[in-house]
Amino acid sequence: MADRYLSFTGTAPGRFLTRRLGLPQPAELRRDTLDGGLLHLTAGKTDLGLAPVLARTGLTRDEDGRPAAVVLDATGVRDVDALAGVHAALHPVVRSVAASGRVVVLGAPLDPADHHQAAVQQALEGFTRSLGKEIGRGRTVNLVRLTDPCAAESTLRFLLSPASAYVSGQVIEVGAAGGGTEPDDWALPLAGRTALVTGAARGIGAAVAETLAGQGAQVVVLDVPQAEDEARRAAERLGGTALALDITAPDAGERIAAALPGGLDVLIHNAGVTRDRRLVNMPAERWSSVLDVNLASVLRTTDALLAAGAVNRGGRIVATASIAGLAGNAGQTNYGASKAGIVGLVRALAPRARDAHGVTVNAVAPGFIETKMTAAVPLFIREAGRRMNSLGQGGLPVDVARTTAWLAHPASGAVNGQVVRVCGQSLLGA
Ligand code: NAD
Repeated sequence: MADRYLSFTGTAPGRFLTRRLGLPQPAELRRDTLDGGLLHLTAGKTDLGLAPVLARTGLTRDEDGRPAAVVLDATGVRDVDALAGVHAALHPVVRSVAASGRVVVLGAPLDPADHHQAAVQQALEGFTRSLGKEIGRGRTVNLVRLTDPCAAESTLRFLLSPASAYVSGQVIEVGAAGGGTEPDDWALPLAGRTALVTGAARGIGAAVAETLAGQGAQVVVLDVPQAEDEARRAAERLGGTALALDITAPDAGERIAAALPGGLDVLIHNAGVTRDRRLVNMPAERWSSVLDVNLASVLRTTDALLAAGAVNRGGRIVATASIAGLAGNAGQTNYGASKAGIVGLVRALAPRARDAHGVTVNAVAPGFIETKMTAAVPLFIREAGRRMNSLGQGGLPVDVARTTAWLAHPASGAVNGQVVRVCGQSLLGA
């Protein structure tokens, strides 16, 4: 599972050799602290009122010209001339952004009544994705479209922190205020909340459960009965409880609701399986088992839990898609279909769940994550999967977990219907 090439390129001889041979030189990502202050730039006229929100993130202002976080407010850019302000603001500072630093571009929602504004605001997307591909040194670039910076506070905190180490090239839309609540303690935002994670005995799900517990949640570790011992051990470590249940059971939603009489605040649909085969060789059973675990069970349990009122108001549902569902992948017609289905579910249900239940629905779409699942991939395919992204390496389960925790955050009520890739800006489906 270890990425030996990444360790090698981190040494002086490794750097020398890979540079001489013109090989990729991925940077070790900083996942604990960022080294430097915050630089707040603007392009075009803006009255966003961002400064107080940035001040609350705890990041200090960049004093020495080596920022670890750069925020460019381009919400006021309405024409091509003003777009030049994006170049003018970032061109002189990009080189000085610290390794593993963050660039966050802020844009406005596209105005359908003004095709000039829509054109240049859309231009920010191409700009962000291109800069993400060239910036290097473990640095990330993301675009947030927003109208109210207060509603985007949890999103800005996440994107400007080490927690978003493997999230780059993303466009995230944050709605207007409403639906979110500021936690008493930003370090323990999930205190007093119950979170259920499916498929949490191991891999990404175990990391999600651990991260949510670390943020104060009472976690329920759900996994198949065959993994009950593992699930129980994981739950004990986290001070939570285990629930042995095959999520494809027709009454899984009802059984979860019965096990949690106080209802759920956070529901993470993480359980997933692969049964790869090209379509010509794929028996119907391989097709249906993947569709059943990855999509049908998510639809069924979500419907049952919402109908039973078992997801509390202010609740968060996060489902797990995959870049295979966005880009497609040879040998994965079943898996790609199931994960694309998650995207459709999230986009359609999000506004209705918000209006009817006060619940948000979002998805994470992991790329290549270092788990048992990807360790089993043949060497050359695995190496290609690992390197073919802007950060030149695979992500870790904790990267998906922290992204999930941001979507599950009580203050993320204005983030709804989003599909956020945790893929280091994978070239697949870019
Ligand atoms: P994993 O195989 O390590 O873990 C999956 C867990 O889900 C296991 O504990 C398994 O027992 C459980 N599970 C499977 N079927 C279940 C069922 N019917 N009911 C309850 N639990 C069930 O997988 P992972 O790599 O940790 O992946 C987690 C999720 O992330 C999956 O949805 C996967 O498709 C998705 N994903 C993973 C990657 C990656 O690179 N690892 C990439 C994209 C998406």
